[in-house]
Amino acid sequence: MAIVSLIRCAGYDPAGVDRAVQDALDRLGGIGRFVKPGNRELLKVNLLVGSPPEKAITTHPSVVRTLIRLVRSAGGVPEVGDCCGFEGPPSAGRYRAACRLSGFKQVCDEQGVELVHLSADSVEVDNPIGRAFKRFTLARRAMDADLIVNLPKLKTHGLTLFTGGVKNNFGLLPGLLKPEMHLRAQGAEGFAQMLVDLLAAVRPALTVMDAVVGMEGDGPRNGRPKQVGAVIASADPVSLDAVACQIVGIRPQMVPTTRLAHEQGVGVGDLAQIKVLGESPEALRVVGFQIPAAPEALFRATGFLRFMQGRLVAKPALRAAACEACWVCVEHCPSVALSENGKAPVFDYDKCIRCYCCQELCPHDAIRLQRPLLARLLVR
Ligand code: SF4
Ligand code: SF4
Repeated sequence: MAIVSLIRCAGYDPAGVDRAVQDALDRLGGIGRFVKPGNRELLKVNLLVGSPPEKAITTHPSVVRTLIRLVRSAGGVPEVGDCCGFEGPPSAGRYRAACRLSGFKQVCDEQGVELVHLSADSVEVDNPIGRAFKRFTLARRAMDADLIVNLPKLKTHGLTLFTGGVKNNFGLLPGLLKPEMHLRAQGAEGFAQMLVDLLAAVRPALTVMDAVVGMEGDGPRNGRPKQVGAVIASADPVSLDAVACQIVGIRPQMVPTTRLAHEQGVGVGDLAQIKVLGESPEALRVVGFQIPAAPEALFRATGFLRFMQGRLVAKPALRAAACEACWVCVEHCPSVALSENGKAPVFDYDKCIRCYCCQELCPHDAIRLQRPLLARLLVR
């Protein structure tokens, strides 16, 4: 039986977050079960892009501060880092700017903790038990850590429906490799299989989810903040995601990462095999939580035929009035489906693999996911 602890946490005041996280970890056996004196622990945050904490795109710095203190209390040496979506080795400055905007830099400075730029160096990691991906190129500093503490944010995701503990591992790939991976692992199923293989290759010892304020709608970047009111912790990110989904009204088996990980024995995604300690998921149930407009994962999970996907899966579309012609989307499109026309990007939908990187990474919220008419009629 997998164990997940679920603790109510109404806001981000530091004392409240300290209490909730401490309680969540105590129910798993205490921080000392995971952290050993002298060990170097990477606190792997969710830094999709630099963004103020109130936008609910990134892990809240209060949660990071609490974990830093707890790791230290057990004698560990914490460090904080991520490889965010838009950057690579040449752009350490952009990484630092993103960390400042998201509040991570301030917390690290205040606590005297190193802020690690995970994209700076990489290492090849073999993954013989992976189904589709037998080898990954991963951040060297993450691989050198004694253990990884995974700190995801509860959010929706245009491709995989939901992003939490399993998807947060994707940040261990250096920035510039992410678009390439989208090209190699296409569609919700392909991308989820890659994430499951990645979890088999690199397993965080502990996952603590910031589900105090999550994101609904067109996550993981352009959705709306939604009060959820919880901290969730587990040694199994798959179980944790299943419980988080239950709280926001998404059936765990609809989420391809959860379903595939469970089927392949990489984690436990069946709620009947998960024991929840602390609050019951029903007590924290969020009513009316909005899922993304791009339901590829949903259609797959509900058994629609593959040939229908072109008529059902959302396509990225430009909101020309919001576009600032910064070309971030063009630079990061893995299938070269976007080009510059002087004033705004142009989509080539025949080349577009519907990975939604452009929508995720556009800094001006100028790309929306447009659902075909049939999809709007079938899923409301
Ligand atoms: S246009 Fe957008 S959704 Fe399509 S392949 Fe490029 S980045 Fe992905
Ligand atoms: S759509 Fe967004 S990312 Fe692309 S050029 Fe316009 S503002 Fe930049």
